[in-house]
Formats: sequence, structure tokens, C-alpha cells
Amino acid sequence: MKIGEILKQVKHSISFEFFPPKTKEGEDALCETIKELEYIKPTFVSITYGAGGSTRERTIRVVKRIHQETDLTVMAHQTCIGHTKKEIIDILNEYKKIGVQNILALRGDIPQGQEETFVFPPDGCRYANELVELIRENFGDWFSIGVAAYPEGHPESPNLERDIYYFKKKVEAGAEFAITQMFFDNRFFYDFLERVEKAGINIPIIPGIMPITNFKQIRKFALMCGATIPEELVKKLEAVEDKPEEVEKIGIEYAVKQCEDLLKNGAKGLHFYTLNKSKATIQIYERIKHLI
Ligand SMILES: Cc1cc2nc3c(=O)[nH]c(=O)nc-3n(C[C@H](O)[C@H](O)[C@H](O)COP(=O)(O)OP(=O)(O)OC[C@H]3O[C@@H](n4cnc5c(N)ncnc54)[C@H](O)[C@@H]3O)c2cc1C
Repeated sequence: MKIGEILKQVKHSISFEFFPPKTKEGEDALCETIKELEYIKPTFVSITYGAGGSTRERTIRVVKRIHQETDLTVMAHQTCIGHTKKEIIDILNEYKKIGVQNILALRGDIPQGQEETFVFPPDGCRYANELVELIRENFGDWFSIGVAAYPEGHPESPNLERDIYYFKKKVEAGAEFAITQMFFDNRFFYDFLERVEKAGINIPIIPGIMPITNFKQIRKFALMCGATIPEELVKKLEAVEDKPEEVEKIGIEYAVKQCEDLLKNGAKGLHFYTLNKSKATIQIYERIKHLI
């Protein structure tokens, strides 16, 4: 089913994001995780794509498996950086052939250290709005298209206004919904929603939730994508940094409060960055399900 259509029907959407594992063991473990999460009946699940095409075959394989072997609605992430338009069309044709109808259209990160020198392929798409255009031009309405949004602004953007200006271009090109980068302070999200509404953007925007289960790892991710971890939370986590169970407990408690607040304040749904694990997501879901 098309996610854009489903979002019109459901009050709240629940979705899970996975990455395509590198090994057969990893893929089997992911299948286990998906089985454990299936009882939640997520609105959709999504599979990431390595910018530059590093996971091309793996992403396609995992998307196909989920589409063909489960009842779940699946969305394939597709980045454009490093690909020609023809390569992107070929990949999307593979999805169309088997009936997959949902794409998260992304630019992808410029490789580290190449921020100043990176050369975009002349026959490719430089930004996600061009990718959305490419999909619409070649596939019409076959795909429901989602895009990324950044409540704290994209790290390359000079300011939030500019970032929202380009976000609007993705919507005008045909994006039907957006999923946000992780954030830990809901005030960024609420402020962002106000700003996008003023900018005339009215597609559903689903907040992206990253439960903190490994502080070192998430702190690194947060730094890379410009997500602020509130000082008070940092202090709590630093105090127990070498006790993984304590970290997880604090992280889950925090995510539960964050999700409760979002749902009570009208968020369209929750998109969990699962890191291919089910435990934290299940624990959070069980405590907030009465609000969904
Ligand atoms: C929910 C979610 C899922 C993600 N999944 C993946 C994934 O699977 N694989 C992966 O590699 N990465 C993924 N990312 C990360 C994403 O690829 C990076 O954040 C990337 O740097 C930007 O992608 P974008 O699609 O937002 O780009 P864009 O919307 O193109 O924006 C990139 C930057 O360029 C600016 N900009 C946009 N359009 C223009 C324009 N026309 N002219 C000038 N400037 C412009 C924007 O303000 C922004 O600063 C994901 C991010 C999110 C939030």
C-alpha cells in the first residue's frame, strides 16, 4: 500500500527503520528482529540505502524479502548522490516490477573530507528535490514519495529558513510526507512545525525517534547530524556511561516521555530508528501504546 494514502486514514503512524546487514548472519538476525516487531502491526517499515550505492544490492534484496515474505508495507530509502539518473531509474524499476510502491527520496551525505571537492555526476541529481522530480517524471504516481526533514536544520544549511525553503521544493516536486532527523528536545520539533506551516507546507511530518541504548554511539551520530542532546540528559548518561544497563534504562525512560509528549501534542506518528534491534522499541511501544 502507498504510505501517503495510509497516512490519510490512520490517526497515528508507527514505523521502524532498519539498515541492510552486511552478512548472512546479520540478515537472519534482522529477520528475527522484524518477526519480534511484527505484532505491533507497524504502518510501514523502511530500509536504508548507503549513499553512493554501497548497499545497492543489499537494500534491494532486503526490501524484496520483506515485501514478498511478510505482510508489512515496506519503503525503500533511495539516495541520489553518486548515481546517474539512469542508475536510479534502473533501481526503481526493480521495485516497481515486484510491486513496491514507497520510496524515501534522499540526497545522501557528501563523503567525509570531500565537502569542498565533491563532484556531482553531470547526469545525476544534486539535491533531493531533483530526485523527487526524477521519480515523478519517470514513474508518475506509482510511488508514494517521502523525504527527510530537519527540525534543527540540516548541518550544511546556513539557517533553518533556508533549509525550510528547500524542504518546500521537495514538497512542490511531489513529496507526500516527511520523516525527521532524530531530535531529543521536542521544542525543536514543535517550532519546526510552526515554521513549516507558515511556509505553506502541509504534508504529514513524522518525528524520527532514536532511543539511546549506547551513549557513545548515539552521541557520535547526534554530533554528525547536528542533533542536540539536552545537557541534563547528557549529565545523567555520563554518570553511568560504563554501565550499559543503566544507560539503556535512562535512554528508554527518556524516549517514553518524549514519545508521550509528541503523541499528546498531535504528532502524526513515530518513526523509530531501531538499529536493527527490537528490545528498546518494544519496551517503549508497550508503554505508549494506549496513546496510539
Ligand atoms: C529519515 C531520514 C532517513 C535517512 N536515510 C538515509 C539513508 O538511507 N541513506 C543515507 O545515505 N542517508 C540517509 N539520511 C541522511 C541524508 O541523506 C542526509 O542528511 C543528507 O545530507 C541530506 O539528504 P536530504 O535528502 O535531506 O538532502 P536535501 O534535501 O537535498 O538537502 C541537503 C542540503 O542541501 C540544501 N539544499 C537542498 N536543496 C537545495 C537546492 N536545490 N539548492 C541548494 N541547496 C539545497 C538543504 O538545505 C540541505 O542543507 C536520512 C535522513 C533522514 C532524516
